[in-house]
Amino acid sequence: MAASTRAGVTLTGISKTFGDFTAVQPLDLTIPQGSFFALLGASGCGKTTTLRMIAGLEQPTTGRVVLGERDVTALPPHKRPVNTVFQSYALFPHLDVFDNVGFGLRRRGVKSVKKQVEEVLELVELGHLARRRPSQLSGGQQQRVALARAVVNRPEVLLLDEPLGALDLKLRRQMQLELKRIQTEVGITFVHVTHDQEEAMTMADTIAVMNAGQVEQLGAPVELYENPKTAFVANFLGQSNLIAAEIAGTGGSDLLLRVGDAKLTLPRARTHAGSTAVGARVLAGIRPEKIAMVARSEEAGIPAGRNRLTGTVVDTSFTGVSTQYVVNSPWCPELAVFAQNVERDRFAPGTEVVLHWDPEHTFGLDGHQDIDAGTGEGAL
Ligand code: ATP
Repeated sequence: MAASTRAGVTLTGISKTFGDFTAVQPLDLTIPQGSFFALLGASGCGKTTTLRMIAGLEQPTTGRVVLGERDVTALPPHKRPVNTVFQSYALFPHLDVFDNVGFGLRRRGVKSVKKQVEEVLELVELGHLARRRPSQLSGGQQQRVALARAVVNRPEVLLLDEPLGALDLKLRRQMQLELKRIQTEVGITFVHVTHDQEEAMTMADTIAVMNAGQVEQLGAPVELYENPKTAFVANFLGQSNLIAAEIAGTGGSDLLLRVGDAKLTLPRARTHAGSTAVGARVLAGIRPEKIAMVARSEEAGIPAGRNRLTGTVVDTSFTGVSTQYVVNSPWCPELAVFAQNVERDRFAPGTEVVLHWDPEHTFGLDGHQDIDAGTGEGAL
């Protein structure tokens, strides 16, 4: 089922203060009904607090929570049409899978739970394990039971708080695809909290990237990846090369940049800088996989009109699908270049190279930001 244009969750001016610490700055967010929405950010940015305010587990300091058309701000958690799936599955150890899933329905007075439980177990592909106890299941299977237990209640909104955090990488990847399939089948609005950018990109229709209690940017995964508006988003979502540059002039729909003695072309339409006047500082961004690399001796073969920078390879690491290079250019150290593993030639450290790319792939950011925002320890 595709997401509708109706709002599933509307947060208006919602904020949360603990003592004198503001965990969530006043936030306005509309999550379309039936969509898969991810709140993505580093540890401590306020994403769980936001989720808990939707669930009713945390009372907002300011603002309102509306589910569909109903203002639920004053309602306790159990009166909200919301279920939450946590990283810890919290299954009842003495009940089997079937009874774990049917528990909520029975408590609500539903007499015949068989059909609904069977359907939802089918959905999570656990029909054959209905009579097992949680201790007889793998982590991934337990997580599916937890999901089934939430979905069977047909909540309007399903909240997922790092639900795959306890699983190993391979299972995580598999469950990401499963979760997406299940969400599409049931059409419930999913709000998913994660610090894993790949996980958010794989599953979500829309991602809100949070930083220090605020939404930095909101959009579809491709839009955020290809057109980040801040250094934090550029660095946190995938990897970016951000090159400190100065605007030297304009040419048609492009800005012409100066980086040391090199010149780069930046489409004006892809620029989110405070000022685009000559002399203004910008960060020119380019993703590592968009860059091609040739030995300096081959420079004559680079087509005209490409952005280019010279440099020296300082590190090479082979990852299987690609080789990842680190290249030092005189004006921008440690540029990352990912070369798909199709050519056998690899560049050894010390090789003098020219990096080149289509100017259309360059994005421009305000030059006054911290060039390293969203990288390093904080981003893990
Ligand atoms: P994580 O991924 O680590 O869970 P998060 O982005 O979900 O991080 P929150 O759990 O929303 O972050 O916490 C945001 C900030 O609010 C953190 O600095 C946290 O220490 C603080 N915080 C959360 N709950 C409380 C509380 N009950 N009392 C005081 N501070 C709190």
